Amino acid sequence: MEYDMPLYRPPSEGRSLIFQVTLGCSWNKCLFCGMYKGKRFAVRPWEELRKDILEMSWMQPGTRKVFLADGDPLCLDTDYLIKVLDLLNEKFPYLERVSIYAGPTNLMEKSVEELKELRKRKLDVLYLGIETGNDALLKRIHKGATADEIIAGCRKAIEAGLRMSTFIILGLGGVEGSYDHAKDSARVANAIDPHFLATLTLMLGPYEELYEKKLMGKGFKLINKAQSLQELRWFVEDLNVTDCKFGTEHASNYLPINGRLPDDKEKILDLIDRGMKDEGSRLLRPEWLRGL
Ligand code: SF4
Repeated sequence: MEYDMPLYRPPSEGRSLIFQVTLGCSWNKCLFCGMYKGKRFAVRPWEELRKDILEMSWMQPGTRKVFLADGDPLCLDTDYLIKVLDLLNEKFPYLERVSIYAGPTNLMEKSVEELKELRKRKLDVLYLGIETGNDALLKRIHKGATADEIIAGCRKAIEAGLRMSTFIILGLGGVEGSYDHAKDSARVANAIDPHFLATLTLMLGPYEELYEKKLMGKGFKLINKAQSLQELRWFVEDLNVTDCKFGTEHASNYLPINGRLPDDKEKILDLIDRGMKDEGSRLLRPEWLRGL
């Protein structure tokens, strides 16, 4: 099997067998995201995908976890996804779970019944970028969904028995929008009550100036390390989820933490406070170790 690069997967899917069901992202409009800007969206021909699944079932018959790429294969018709899942279940007898990237626009188009059909066929975790809970910012970054639509989509998936792994991007609101971004994002995360919640920190490398001046404009200024920690604190202090694995280990973040909410909330806040008091703290990831 050959992959069509670039190929992305969540860190937690490091041991999963990946099949590219689609290429690129069907939405591909989010301003901050350059992952698939060089890839034209396409659904891979069934015969090609089937050949990959058959080939890998001979090579790795003991596969337990599968991840479906690229950017948002949940955009596919439910019948097509059922066909893919049925073949995976048939060819991998030890299959335990299938995970997938999903965009909020995909979930807007699926009913609870359709999602239940996918769940029955071992679709388990949906990775979805909330990015921010702030409606003005969602519009500005061209996310294609409002906060209420994101909440409704994720709740629908949870009702169907799927597990939601969601993330927020620190820094998305810039300096001026930092507080509202943090507070609105916590409100949306609480309303979704996901199984997994993570943060990433906006990193744009050589595109910083282009992003600030041309794409966002209106005096948008990226946050620095101290502001990112403050934003994380504003976010975490408002979280009120019932049973959620929380993580900031992604390499873009300054402060890697993981824990369970609500149980570890005070410990997490204490770590953030320690990082905020001492920017030279060994708790914080040095700039040169940060990456996407
Ligand atoms: S939906 Fe996800 S992959 Fe697609 S453009 Fe937006 S952030 Fe990127």
